[in-house]
Amino acid sequence: MSGLANQLKQKLKLKMPPLVSPNKVLLITDLYYLIDLEKKYDDFLETNQQILDLYNVIDELLDIRDSIAIQVCRLKRKNRLNEYYQNMSSYFTKKEYKCGCEVIQRNYYKEHVYCPKHLHYYKTKCILDNELTKINQELASITNIENEIL
Ligand SMILES: [Zn+2]
Repeated sequence: MSGLANQLKQKLKLKMPPLVSPNKVLLITDLYYLIDLEKKYDDFLETNQQILDLYNVIDELLDIRDSIAIQVCRLKRKNRLNEYYQNMSSYFTKKEYKCGCEVIQRNYYKEHVYCPKHLHYYKTKCILDNELTKINQELASITNIENEIL
């Protein structure tokens, strides 16, 4: 970084935010410090735009401000991703059984993955459930009017 901005600071006794090189900004991981710094830069640039332009240091300060803004976005995105993955894992459980069956819970959705033996039983149960429904309907229909002997 050129010493120009530093000289200006001393000359004009401006309340200048701390000077950090853009490369170093990308190493800072304290989000709230950076948000605060970004605001200080914005306020400072807005208030002193003309004089900074005059001394030809505005580009240097804009570069710093931009690198702060970029780093703020990166950290926010990283936090959002972390939050997302934390939520994912808290709503996801998987229970495994000795036979090979698995019960997977995703949010409110529960899914049973059967092992071959229990899959066979499950299919048989479905077929028998169907059969039983038909039998019950058939038995219930005995007393229907259509079946009456007139
Ligand atoms: Zn099983």
